[in-house]
Amino acid sequence: MPNQNRRDFFKTSLALGVTVSGLASGKLKAETPKVHPEDRMGVLVDTTVCIGCRSCEYACKVAHNLPTGSLESYHDDRSVFNKERRPGEEVLTVVNEYKSNQEFPIDVKVQCMHCEEPACVASCIVHAFTKHKDGSVTWDTGKCIGCRYCVIACPFQVPVFQYSKALQPNIMKCDFCYDRTSKGLLPACVEICPVEALTYGKKVELLQVAKGRIKQKPDKYFDHIYGEYEVGGTSWLYLSSTNFSNLDFPKLGEDPAPATSESIQHGLFRYFVPPVALYTLLGGIMWLTKRKENSEEEE
Ligand code: SF4
Ligand code: SF4
Ligand code: SF4
Repeated sequence: MPNQNRRDFFKTSLALGVTVSGLASGKLKAETPKVHPEDRMGVLVDTTVCIGCRSCEYACKVAHNLPTGSLESYHDDRSVFNKERRPGEEVLTVVNEYKSNQEFPIDVKVQCMHCEEPACVASCIVHAFTKHKDGSVTWDTGKCIGCRYCVIACPFQVPVFQYSKALQPNIMKCDFCYDRTSKGLLPACVEICPVEALTYGKKVELLQVAKGRIKQKPDKYFDHIYGEYEVGGTSWLYLSSTNFSNLDFPKLGEDPAPATSESIQHGLFRYFVPPVALYTLLGGIMWLTKRKENSEEEE
């Protein structure tokens, strides 16, 4: 879908969101599963260690049967760092490089953060997303109706809709290698990282590790663990030598992000908007967007 039409879809959908959420009055709290943090797994990304080799991008693609070139081509091609990239239809994680006033540039791996209170889960009206006990957030192709609420709701702009697949588009995002970790394997990106910039483990222990590194080397680390508190906490945690705003991390509060999307859902149910009416509305939006796209292509 051309960018213009994609923007149109978002604009229309956001207008819908605002209209419907306007129906809901007062604060409505999330009903996300509460699991003791002891159960949570996570990954600590130490950007001061990452060398930008992009082996993680390669391994992630291999693990998810996505098209990939040779591993060497990932190491050799530094031109990708000329512009900032985002996870996309065929790449669930990307590494971006930032110039710094230190000796080396700073490389930052980007993927789904696996939020403790995920906006994607809360916004999905057919419960196609699942927040698992270990913290992973996965998506079920069989339930998705393609409404793309999750795409709009995510505070990190992670889920990507497969516009290129007309008949059976998927929502693409990092699944924390759920198939691998449930068999006792490491996430593919963690396993391949040659410098141990990525550490997989219990989130409570990773937080202790991160705090220990900051305490031991206060000159090396910026005193903040990104993901400890942002949007209620995330399974992926980051350390950096500089303020995270210099690395394009969104500045987010500690409140979970689902509030807006939940208002939409609760507004719908509070005022008894039946699901079939909602699906018709969403179908209408998609049809209008597609129609506009076709007419633009004809022109
Ligand atoms: S980063 Fe976005 S897609 Fe990932 S769990 Fe959080 S809200 Fe969902
Ligand atoms: S955890 Fe798995 S899906 Fe997520 S970025 Fe790493 S390799 Fe990709
Ligand atoms: S594999 Fe490790 S060192 Fe290489 S880019 Fe990914 S996180 Fe950085």
